[in-house]
Amino acid sequence: MFRSWRIGRIFGVPTELHWSFLLVPVAILVYSYEAGVGLRWTQVQWWSGITLLLFLFVLIHELGHALTAKSRGVVAEKIILFPLGGGALIPEEPKRIRDEILIYFAGPLANILLALIALPLLLLQPGGKYLIQFYLNPFGNLIVVPSPAEQLLGITLAVNAVLAIGNLLPAYPLDGGRILRALLKRPVGERAATVITTLLGIAIGGGLIALSFQLEDPLLGLSSLFIVSFSAIELNRGWQRRRLARAVMKEVLRSPLTDRIYANDRVARARAVFAKTDAKVLPVYDNWNQLSGFVEREVLLREADREQRVVSFYEPEYIAAQPTDSLLQLTERIVEANVYGAAIYDRGVIVGFVFTEDVIQLLDQSPRRFYKRFTSPA
Ligand SMILES: [Zn+2]
Repeated sequence: MFRSWRIGRIFGVPTELHWSFLLVPVAILVYSYEAGVGLRWTQVQWWSGITLLLFLFVLIHELGHALTAKSRGVVAEKIILFPLGGGALIPEEPKRIRDEILIYFAGPLANILLALIALPLLLLQPGGKYLIQFYLNPFGNLIVVPSPAEQLLGITLAVNAVLAIGNLLPAYPLDGGRILRALLKRPVGERAATVITTLLGIAIGGGLIALSFQLEDPLLGLSSLFIVSFSAIELNRGWQRRRLARAVMKEVLRSPLTDRIYANDRVARARAVFAKTDAKVLPVYDNWNQLSGFVEREVLLREADREQRVVSFYEPEYIAAQPTDSLLQLTERIVEANVYGAAIYDRGVIVGFVFTEDVIQLLDQSPRRFYKRFTSPA
């Protein structure tokens, strides 16, 4: 259930609907319900119409990104539409900063153009001027009774203005945040640019959450929560990469044990070797004392038959590295190869092992240290 449904290719871009769209009918019913009155069907129609229009404007926004990316020779893998917005999946960062800015600006620009088309058409309507006044001050005492045409133009103007302004907020992961990050890359460097825009994302998203309570608007609250969490994840990811880039391999390097596990050993003996160490993974050797892979403690513990041979449980794949390799690059290689770890060779001799488990352990400590640094009184 928690997936996306392909609805088709639009201008050659695969377009998907996110599962959370199932929440839209629920939200419409909630918004149209009034205590004591019950469900108001005119409200249901009203919100359904608004939702359809919002969906259309978001789609045009995402097509702005995707088609601009294509025209710049950057792959736009697909568009995913969420109830409150969308995303154009551009897996590889554009090489040129100018292209990046263009691609991220093209979405809001599409909304600006739609609003600029709706504005003069609305002003030509008899009640258009008053409707705009009403939008600019919705809590004032101006009462407007717009015609259907005025309503349609008014909503087109208002929704696209909100989409353009909202998305241009300088907060990651919004378009404005990405544009700002691209602009900052050269003057302050990629890492600092990410830190600045994700911190802005957390601050601006937090402010919008507070605003959503004031306006009693759960939808604004929800989308602001997305901004905060996306920024926090990206910030943390960057922090962990930095931690790894600075770490030395020695922090996670495990020296070879004198007591070796052999592929032909029985599970019982291998478990006895594990009992003497805190390692979650250990190397497995063949009869000629050559490294042939890694075995995980958990896997051996799950096996009920202690007389089985280790050979049926170990993973014969691993990667080789040198003690001078950077831990960040080594971790990237381990993750990409999807193996338990790496054997570290120095002049043809194994000097130790680096296991993914230990790298995760190393990183687990860093966020705590990171937060401590920011919360402890100076
Ligand atoms: Zn966008």
